[in-house]
Amino acid sequence: MNQNVVLITGDGIGPEITSSVCTIFKEAGVPISWIEAPAGLRAYEDTGNPLPEETLNLIKEHKIALKAPLTTPVGKGFRSANVTLRQTLDLYANVRPVKSLPGVQTAYPDVDIVTFRENTQGLYIGHERVIDPDNVELIGLITRKASERIIRAACEYATKYNLKKVTLGHKANILKESTGLFLKIGYEVAKEYPKVEFSDMIIDNMAMQLVMRPQQFDVIVTTNLFGDIMSDLASGLVGGLGVTPGANIGENYAVFEAVHGSAPDIAGQNKANPTALLFSALMMLRHLDMNEHYERIHAAALKTLADTEVRTADLGGKGTTASFTEALCRNLN
Ligand code: NAD
Repeated sequence: MNQNVVLITGDGIGPEITSSVCTIFKEAGVPISWIEAPAGLRAYEDTGNPLPEETLNLIKEHKIALKAPLTTPVGKGFRSANVTLRQTLDLYANVRPVKSLPGVQTAYPDVDIVTFRENTQGLYIGHERVIDPDNVELIGLITRKASERIIRAACEYATKYNLKKVTLGHKANILKESTGLFLKIGYEVAKEYPKVEFSDMIIDNMAMQLVMRPQQFDVIVTTNLFGDIMSDLASGLVGGLGVTPGANIGENYAVFEAVHGSAPDIAGQNKANPTALLFSALMMLRHLDMNEHYERIHAAALKTLADTEVRTADLGGKGTTASFTEALCRNLN
């Protein structure tokens, strides 16, 4: 029987890259039935709600979703559907693996890092209060429960995949109470994982260390805003936003998504790189224990990415979304 997966085609380049992933999965014979559901700017324009109730109910019913990027107006308009989705479904762990890709030229050939970003709290709880037109107050939240479970998730991952180190990023020298609590809980949880080499780093130093010596990191765990920035920085080390996958995982539901945004500057031009969404869909296949399909498509993706003729322009190639997809389908066989 096919596995049902909710598919959010999203905004901007979203429809182009989801179509690419669906074509590849179909060609590979992956037993998945896609159930399309609206979200984002288009959904807002059509229904007045960037995250319609029917979409939430479908994810609750089928438990797994693959989501293309959604456009969120900057500084005005509706609240990010991504943030609402994460909070409503309690998708507390944002997991982003970054690994150097063969043939994709970057500053370092040997980066292999997974970032665990706490996904439900910190400064992203949306408590912004306009005191008057020139003064705005912003409130962040750190709790023991949320800190424990994200740090535990990072340590569990390191244990499962035999990774040596977990490094916790914080700013406890300045934000002593809030990220200080996160740091303290880190060392408490780490005691449960004696095989994991656990350490901490002040977040601005971590940014520099990631740029200068990324090989020192295996797993990074940090709070929401810091994790947002560090995981984008890490993706830049392996070829950028076009090749980095991500997953938002909770106790009951999992939503797989690319790290990049809806790229309105190249939308509808057949220029978008579908690799990040494809790799997110591949993370989903592993999550669903469809390992044979994972291996086959992953191998075809690496082979295709190594070919400059077919890679998309963001990776210095000459390919389009469509020609890259066709080449990858050919490489499946
Ligand atoms: P962006 O990721 O959309 O674009 C940044 C740059 O990277 C652009 O030059 C773009 O062309 C390029 N790029 C991104 N993805 C690419 C791909 N797959 N292939 C080739 N090039 C790619 O970031 P932005 O411009 O800051 O944001 C645009 C919109 O996306 C905003 O509305 C923002 O809120 C939204 N956004 C959504 C998500 C999400 O849904 N998860 C994440 C980030 C940003």
